Amino acid sequence: MSNYVGRHRPQTRAERRALEGRRRLPKALTAGYALPTAAAATLVLSAGGATAAQSSALTSGINGTQLAAFGAPQAKAQTALTDPALAQRSKTEVAETVATYSDLAERRQESNLSVAESQGRQQERQRIARDKKRKAIAAKKREQAKKAAAEDMGVSPDSVKVGADGKATIAEGTWVLPLANPVLTSGFGPRWGRLHAGDDFGVAVGTPLRSMSNGVVVFAGQQSGYGTMVDIKYSDGTISRYGHMSAIHVSVGQQVSTGQTVGLSGNTGRSTGPHLHLEIHPGGGAPVPPQAWLAGKGLHY
Ligand SMILES: [Zn+2]
Repeated sequence: MSNYVGRHRPQTRAERRALEGRRRLPKALTAGYALPTAAAATLVLSAGGATAAQSSALTSGINGTQLAAFGAPQAKAQTALTDPALAQRSKTEVAETVATYSDLAERRQESNLSVAESQGRQQERQRIARDKKRKAIAAKKREQAKKAAAEDMGVSPDSVKVGADGKATIAEGTWVLPLANPVLTSGFGPRWGRLHAGDDFGVAVGTPLRSMSNGVVVFAGQQSGYGTMVDIKYSDGTISRYGHMSAIHVSVGQQVSTGQTVGLSGNTGRSTGPHLHLEIHPGGGAPVPPQAWLAGKGLHY
């Protein structure tokens, strides 16, 4: 039995592996796929030929004469392959398989698109939520800046605007005091035989002094008695004067806005201690008591 090499011989390991390998191969969608089907049909149709064909495949060294003795099964297979009905069936099978695969691919693509859409919508929702949160935080910050600026300037929050950059600006036409928390130390009136033309506020050297409204700088420099001094002409023609300053942050001709720092308080000129000397000249004329005039603007000290 061990020398038996006929078709009932158990498969060798290499043969088994070759067969398994072939089974694992993907089913091609070409005519090559149809051919084994057609070949199988041929073998069924001609049982005698099939036996011979299988034998011839396994037996190497067989000569042409021997092959002819089997009745030329290959010729029969050739005939079967060219059989129009069988060829048509093969073509139909291929077409159906291709159609099935195309349908599957299409459905898979649709499914992928659907998943992508769903992920896209989720990402969009997350983006909107993040945007909303960011805007809410920015709005809260602006509100805080507005409140702080309003408190600092002594004005209503309604007259404070906070830009996208977080910078607070006071609405045009609004008036503010030159100092935060001013402390009056000496008022307008006669003193030592002459007129003290303004109000004095005791304040530490280096305290920011701000423009009381929108205007233009008409003087910035030194003046006898006043020391370092800044005059601002406002839109209504009123001129304010700040004396005894330690630093000037503006120049003549410069436009200034409400609350803008124009310099720092000091102790320059004829001064007996760090303070701001403030004068108000309505219409650029004679000085008036600042306290009453500022009270008319809703500002009190
Ligand atoms: Zn004074």
